[in-house]
Amino acid sequence: MPSFEDLGLTGPVLRAVKKAGYEEPTPIQAQAIPVALEGKDIVGASQTGTGKTAAFSLPIISKIGPSDRPQCLVLEPTRELAAQVEEQMNLFSFYKPLNVMLLHGGVGYGHQIEALENQADVIIATPGRLLDHMEKGNIDLSSIEYLVLDEVDRMLDMGFLPDVKRIIDRCPSHRKTLFFSATMPGAIQTLANWALKDPVEVEIGERRSPAETVSHAFYPVGMDQRDELLLKLVEQTGFDSMMIFTRTKKEADTLLAQIQKIEGTKPTALHSDIRQSDRTKALQGFRDGTFNIIVATDIAARGLDISGVTHVINYRVPENPEDYVHRIGRTGRAQQEGDAFTILTADELENAAAVEHYVDQKIERRKIDGFDYNYTALLDDKPAAPLRRKRPPGRRRR
Ligand code: AMP
Repeated sequence: MPSFEDLGLTGPVLRAVKKAGYEEPTPIQAQAIPVALEGKDIVGASQTGTGKTAAFSLPIISKIGPSDRPQCLVLEPTRELAAQVEEQMNLFSFYKPLNVMLLHGGVGYGHQIEALENQADVIIATPGRLLDHMEKGNIDLSSIEYLVLDEVDRMLDMGFLPDVKRIIDRCPSHRKTLFFSATMPGAIQTLANWALKDPVEVEIGERRSPAETVSHAFYPVGMDQRDELLLKLVEQTGFDSMMIFTRTKKEADTLLAQIQKIEGTKPTALHSDIRQSDRTKALQGFRDGTFNIIVATDIAARGLDISGVTHVINYRVPENPEDYVHRIGRTGRAQQEGDAFTILTADELENAAAVEHYVDQKIERRKIDGFDYNYTALLDDKPAAPLRRKRPPGRRRR
């Protein structure tokens, strides 16, 4: 593995890397940094937690200098991710005076307009708010030299494709584009073909394999006992910090109210209907230990760099197997041990099979001792039987 010094980064950036405490580049950094420094486009597939942010930030900061027009634009799907990238960019430009600016929705325009007038060198934005500013004539992207499209699959999932295309269109064609997506289905490949010029492909590790230090388990249960089982799991599990993923905001709110009643828990919630200032507080509090449980929807939590999560619980089996991998990416980061528990009901057996196929391993079915199960057919670990619909009484199979 090369050292950071071998990669061609400039002095101030190397000093900032030291300050950040990074000793050696991660594989994606070792691959992507020299390519980006050469000025080539990159299409990168990488799990979260692999050091992707530094992989694109360090070469860009090496290459740009203070100017009176924005030179780098980073698009992120969520406010939290944008804020996280801003924090890292500020850290990496510690010895190089760059104006890094964050533009996302959920907050007022006044402060952002003022900051735009102060000439940002780097803009980190969510697509919707950036487009608003573009339409109001507050921002001109014609000086952009580096365009980073991060977490592209999630941006597309969130319906940002038309916005993203319009933004790309307004950046000059001689720009360099760095494109990162954990998955590369057809629509994303098409966007990449359109947005990138002769990109170098950087793919790190087995895209499908979730962190190897995570142990997985399914907890089968009847639908009517899903909440009860989840609360029991929370009660019985010795955890330092736990993330619980729900499919909907309403589920997150309902579960939060129930978990609040469990002694010893300090829960909070994270989803897009929660005010931005409270979302920031929730995340900050989860990071500093004020909260030890965060109940979140996928969209709010994707890609967040939260270290030291010991347990991830999926309230439902994710509909997209990719989401399972993203969620459990929160735990087992940096070689720590982590557990990922998923509650499984009969209607989710197909999703469960898809997850097992995607991660290419059989996930153990577990039962909680002392839990009064109403329905046990799922627990025998034979997924075929419960898939059949119950026949109305009196009708026999011919
Ligand atoms: P990311 O994939 O960009 O979200 O990064 C995940 C975590 O790894 C962040 O907390 C980074 O600060 C950290 N990190 C990134 N690169 C390195 C490195 N070379 N050495 C140690 N930690 C790193």
